[in-house]
Parts: sequence; structure tokens; C-alpha cells
Amino acid sequence: MKLFNTLTKKVEELKPLDPPKVSVYTCGPTVYDYPHVGNWFTFIRYDLLIRTLVASGYEPKWVMNITDVGHLTSDADEGEDKLVREARKEGKTAWDVAQYYSDYFVSSLNKLNFLEPWQMPRATDHIDDQISLINQLQQKGFTYRISDGIYFDTSLFAEYRNFARLDLDEQLAGSRIEYNPEKKNPSDFALWKFSPKDQKRDMEWDSPWGKGFPGWHIECSSMCLKYLGQTLDIHSGGIDHIPVHHTNEIAQSQSITGKPLANIWMHTNHILINDQKISKSLGNGIKLEDIEARNISLEAFRLHVFESHYRSQSKFSWDSLLAAQNRLLRYKNFAIKRYQKFNNTLFLPPPDLLTSMQDDLNTPQALVLLEQYIDNSESRPLSQDSISQTISLIDSLFGSQLTKTEDIADSSKVLIQKREKARLARNWVEADKIREILAKDNIGINDSQFGPVWYYLS
Ligand SMILES: [Zn+2]
Repeated sequence: MKLFNTLTKKVEELKPLDPPKVSVYTCGPTVYDYPHVGNWFTFIRYDLLIRTLVASGYEPKWVMNITDVGHLTSDADEGEDKLVREARKEGKTAWDVAQYYSDYFVSSLNKLNFLEPWQMPRATDHIDDQISLINQLQQKGFTYRISDGIYFDTSLFAEYRNFARLDLDEQLAGSRIEYNPEKKNPSDFALWKFSPKDQKRDMEWDSPWGKGFPGWHIECSSMCLKYLGQTLDIHSGGIDHIPVHHTNEIAQSQSITGKPLANIWMHTNHILINDQKISKSLGNGIKLEDIEARNISLEAFRLHVFESHYRSQSKFSWDSLLAAQNRLLRYKNFAIKRYQKFNNTLFLPPPDLLTSMQDDLNTPQALVLLEQYIDNSESRPLSQDSISQTISLIDSLFGSQLTKTEDIADSSKVLIQKREKARLARNWVEADKIREILAKDNIGINDSQFGPVWYYLS
């Protein structure tokens, strides 16, 4: 199986350290708000990665964390804690907000038919682990203290700029980001932030350096190390994570272990709506509930995600989502053919979707193969075996739930037979009348050379 590696900027063969196990870490949600479709694009693509690993005979150990503390409004360790800001707005505690949105996230994973991650650790359950990592960094001399916290000195990690090809000189000139003048280098980041002296935070912990809370990046390092060991097979996230979050994870983890944090780094590209990035502040943060409110299924949304490659910029639009809904209907109508009996059927092996998936998750190519397969199936009826094998394959990779497509009622089948008799007797009035009755039950009929073929109209 081949994946594009951000570390080497090449498509590479996956070589797990302990096959058939594959350790995969995905940077999970910060639980202060409802995820928008752009967030879901990223998470769905990693569910696809896990499904592809399973279909390829691997045993993935998938860890996706839940950031329920310490993610500030800007990546530069400035600004307010996102959770605290939301809690104040909603008149709740930060703990309530975190619980509400983590529950929402987990139930949405179910609704979206995700494979269940092996672990979904929460940052607040791992404060001691994070303190221990900061201690180790301190002992190795990588940290320093300023008035608002303990910081990592990025100038001491020689490879700091390599991963994201950062232009640190430009940062030094201060032309791109505002930064805390107490920091030694603009790229230095907080490991531990102190609570304000005059104010009690909802979420704060004692530490060797004083009361406060951990930085965002140290959380992921602590959970990677704890659950998956010093070097992961795959570390994954969104493209936004490259310059700050993942660069900082690498700096602090590798300063402790002296080993690569991950062998393959995967990043999904941006999702655009009307050529804009999706964000709450732009008012284009479409949620899953907005999709459902338009009677579009979440399986259709999943297919929409797979229409573009994860490394290209994807566009979300309602029109393309409706097109995906039609695509799903086409797949479902292919699936119900397994309930229909035809003479002289053909066994056509399922399309080779897995090879496309194993080629850096080439979903657009897989969907083309699938369309061709279904086109072919229209010229001659396929055996029930062909159809069953194909829809199981689609479900295992794409989570489309086609195997759950139900057959039409027996009473409708009786009507179809009656209509066929009327048609053969050239009683068009009767045949059309029955077609209309069936249409009210969402059933359409094709009079093919192999006999009547039924399908769902919507
Ligand atoms: Zn992370």
C-alpha cells in the first residue's frame, strides 16, 4: 500500500514496524463547537484509510484524541482558550462545554458509520503524562520560563524548520505573525501556560511550575507515546497542522525520544465553499444537521467526500452533494437487483477498488471503476453473487451501507407481475395504472429484454 508522505514529499510504500499491526494517530477535534463539513471531510478520509488498511489485511491500531483543554484561538499561543470563550458565551463551565461537544462528536461518528477508533483519549485524562513529558524536556534543557508559561526553545532542535520548510528568518523579522516579545524565538511554543494570578480557571491543574494548563501540542505527543510508542507508522491530520501543530509535536517528541515520531505523515487538503475556506466566522460552517435537514443522507455526504482526492483542494457545494445523493441512489438500485431473479446471468468479478485505495487512497479513480462496472451490468443481468460481493466491497471501503438496501414489498411484486401480464396483453391503460400505483410507493419499472426490472425512484 502506498501513501504520500509529507516528511519526504513522496508517495511511499507503507512498511509497518510490527505487521500486521499498523499504528495510526489522527489529531482529533477540539470540542468547543459543532464540527463543520470541512472537519468531517478530514475525519471521513481517515476512516477510509483505516477501512483500506483492514481490507488490505492489516490490523490498524487507530488512536484519535479529543482536545478538551488548552487549544488557544491562535496557533501562536496567544488569544483566549477556545473552550473558555465558548463556555462564557453559553453561560456554562468549560467542563460542561467539553463534555457536550465530545458526546456530540462520538455520536456523530456513529451516525456517519465510522469504524470505531481503538482509543479516543481525552487531553484532560492525561495531564500527568503531559507534565511528565514537560519535565523530561526541562531536564534535557529544551525549556525556559517566561511570565505566562513554560516554553520550548525551538532554536535547540536543529531540524525544527525542515518538516514544514518553515522560513524562520521571515518569522524573525516579525513580518508574518505577532508574537510575545518575552519569547526567545518567534516559533517557540508553550508547553504549560499559567493560570492568570487574579482569576480561577474552570480547568487548571497543579504542576511543578505552578497552576495552569498544558499547551495543545504536548497533548498529542503524550498520547502518541502512551498508546502507540515512540515511532508511529502513520500520523495524520489536516494540512493546517503542518507548520505549527505537527512541527511542534515533532520537535518536542523527538527531543525526548531521539527517534522519528512517525514514519509516514498524511495531510488532507483544504475544503472550500465558494472558493473560501470554511470557518465559523465566515458563517459558512455547515453542520451534519444542515445536510440532514435537506433530506440528504450522510452516506451521500461520504460519497461526496470521496469524489475528490484527499491531497487536492475539495469543494463543497449543495449541487455536488445532490449529485452524490443521485450517485448513492444509483448504487442502491444496483444493490436491489440482487433480489431479482433473471435467467442467464453473468458472474462479473467486483471492480478492483482496493488497488485504487492502496494507491494513496485514489478515491476518484475507484468511483470511476465502480461507475463503469454498473454501466456494464446494464447490458446483461449480473448474478446475485456478483452484486452481493460488489456491494460488500463498496460498504467495507466507503461505508455506504448498501447491503442494508431493502427489497420492495411482496405486494408490489404481485403488482409488477400483474402489470407485466397487462403489458403483454397490450392493455396499456391497465399497465399505466399499475405503474402509477407503484410510483406512489417510490418504485419505478424498466421493461428490459430480460423482463421487468424494478428500482427506487428516490
Ligand atoms: Zn495533534
